[in-house]
Amino acid sequence: MDTLPLTPGELVCLGSSLAFSGLFYYLHRKKAKVVTKIQEAPKLQVNDSLPSILSATGSSCLGYVAIEGVVQPVETALTSPYHEELQGVIERLVLKEHRLIWNSLARSWTDSERVVLEQVHTVPFVLASPSGKASGQVCVESPLHAVELPVETVYERFQQTSHGFKDLLSHYLSGEKPKGFLETEEMLLVGSSLTGIGELALHRDGSLHLQPPADGTGYFLRLGDWEAILADLRSVSSFWKWASLLCGLAAAAVILRALCRAYHRHKVHQEQEAQQQEFENLRRHQSAGLDLSEEPPENACVICLTSLRECVLLPCGHVCCCFRCFQAFPNRTCPICRSPIDRVVPLYQA
Ligand SMILES: [Zn+2]
Ligand SMILES: [Zn+2]
Repeated sequence: MDTLPLTPGELVCLGSSLAFSGLFYYLHRKKAKVVTKIQEAPKLQVNDSLPSILSATGSSCLGYVAIEGVVQPVETALTSPYHEELQGVIERLVLKEHRLIWNSLARSWTDSERVVLEQVHTVPFVLASPSGKASGQVCVESPLHAVELPVETVYERFQQTSHGFKDLLSHYLSGEKPKGFLETEEMLLVGSSLTGIGELALHRDGSLHLQPPADGTGYFLRLGDWEAILADLRSVSSFWKWASLLCGLAAAAVILRALCRAYHRHKVHQEQEAQQQEFENLRRHQSAGLDLSEEPPENACVICLTSLRECVLLPCGHVCCCFRCFQAFPNRTCPICRSPIDRVVPLYQA
């Protein structure tokens, strides 16, 4: 079989499937590595013995640990502008504009949103002992560098835009219809139980600090326990694995398709050769009893007038030409009745 006959479209498809498969596999491996690191990391709880655990390791820093504690502000906490009783240490205010955009392809309105304003406020905070009995605390450094902000929605309000008749007309003309504004407030509340995964360092003054790992591994701060973080990462990792597998399968399908086509061509080519051979045999057989110097025979090919008619054109059934002339037809139609030729079979005259 000759080289793979890939069309340009298939080549693009194959290249992109392979590239995406590789990229998704890389993302899957990256997440899987973080999962392993978190599984291997020591799991600690905030208590008095933490400094001594660190001293026992012989260094003032633990590379990657998962630590659980309760959020407490170092000084004054942030107060929610909507609920005065709520106090937190991280606050994110987001204002989003919701619009309907006319999609001329789908011929329908589709939702679209745009962040108009985003503000994040933080105050220094620590993780305290969850039981409340033991003292000791861990300062949480650079919370904004965490993979995701550990906040929960405490306020949400949607303000609908009212439209007049003039507005409606202009919306249909412009293909854009404002729906309204969504205002949300998210907070990390004081007293929430938080898990931090990162580097734990013991400073000279005896204070403990949780900070983003120096080697660039993910820094996680999350409400709940470390197993929830692990479950999330596992599902993301397996998502990338399946995506990579699907792209790999798409690439395999393209290759399989090309191989099938090449095999089909090869088969057709073989059939044509066999047919030609059959006609050659017929011709040799007929020319044995034919004197070419004489007048053209009665049943001579209507095209070249020298060879004998030897093809039965199907489905019309006309017998009018020799195989060489048949092969030279510019299009596969019968020269007598112009009907398309599906198949040709040799004519054996006994
Ligand atoms: Zn002929
Ligand atoms: Zn015909």
